[in-house]
Amino acid sequence: MIPYGRQDITEEDIDAVVKVLRSDFVTQGPVIKNFENAVASYCDGKHAVATSSATSALHLACLALGVKTGDWVWTSPITFVASANCARYCGAEVSFVDIDPKTYNMSVTALENKLIEAEKKGELPKVVIPVHLTGQSCEMEPIYNLSQKYGFKIIEDASHAIGGRYQGKAIGCCSHSDISVFSFHPVKIITSGEGGMALTNDSNLAEKLLRLRNHGITRDSNQFVKEPDGPWVYEQIELGFNYRITDIQAALGLSQLNRLDGYIVKRHELSAVYNLSFKDLPITLPFQASDTYSAYHLYIIRLHLNEIGRSKRDVFEALRADGVGVNFHYIPVHTQPYYEDLGFKNGGYPIAEEYARDAITLPLYPTMTEQEKVIDALKRVVS
Ligand SMILES: *Cc1c(COP(=O)(O)O)cnc(C)c1O
Repeated sequence: MIPYGRQDITEEDIDAVVKVLRSDFVTQGPVIKNFENAVASYCDGKHAVATSSATSALHLACLALGVKTGDWVWTSPITFVASANCARYCGAEVSFVDIDPKTYNMSVTALENKLIEAEKKGELPKVVIPVHLTGQSCEMEPIYNLSQKYGFKIIEDASHAIGGRYQGKAIGCCSHSDISVFSFHPVKIITSGEGGMALTNDSNLAEKLLRLRNHGITRDSNQFVKEPDGPWVYEQIELGFNYRITDIQAALGLSQLNRLDGYIVKRHELSAVYNLSFKDLPITLPFQASDTYSAYHLYIIRLHLNEIGRSKRDVFEALRADGVGVNFHYIPVHTQPYYEDLGFKNGGYPIAEEYARDAITLPLYPTMTEQEKVIDALKRVVS
């Protein structure tokens, strides 16, 4: 089966990891800082805090922005559940903003309308989490302008999007947000095994993220609450977690970062081949907004089911039977049983639900060699 995504591990990656294994530190050594500095510099951002996963980075980001019980956090319904769960970890209420019918990212119009309604009810969000689905940036400038008008903070869930650009700047530079989060899970653009990173240009937020990553402990005497009675003193000044990444993982991530730009170019090349091959099929191809350069984590198409005369499930199963590991990103989060138990109902987000009826993800990864097989199979199944 051709998978929908796959990591690429080279001999250089393996050597970098082995070097750490032979060194004095397997965790909390120098490589984590090097990885953080390299990603911050790549994104032209100030601070980066590496974590055990993007999920833990999203949780820390919510905590650093003060999300707590009684607050509202909004995100997109078409995302991985972690984009919403991070707010629930903090006890906050979650709500969703319907998607844009072209990009499948959070719709700015839907966001504005929802803000107008929320203001009347006194339920404005503390934080909004736009998700750069497939690696294509959300419309961050208008979202940022709304944040200034309505007073919310922004966390970019950029789990798909390292290497992508918006208005010519690297996603992760936080020019329109408080914090941006990357994922280094193996299926994403670059990997550290498991791992994530939170970027920010605010030194107070960076300090908080660092402290919360490590139990809420500080060794910086400027942050001490009590008078230290010896050089052995550290203080736990709030409740944090063990969300640390290891040097072993950071070495892999740092080594992969060297190939990031090449990966994105390759993803664009493969997508262009798909686009050309599929131009006469009864499907909608991925739309690319002119001010974005996508990281192209996912290649998502919409099936014109009436024309095709088959159900999505039928197409999906036929492709799998042909050895094409198609997937679906994502089941709308508000229809997950956990969120239904919180009162969300199918019908609440019509554009997202329509998307879910006919969207599928085709295999796409830089080392892919069997693209012809995917193209032939799709042509056969939908023609
Ligand atoms: C993968 C993913 C996450 C979670 O990433 P982990 O590193 O696996 O925790 C969060 N949000 C989105 C949009 C993702 O795709």
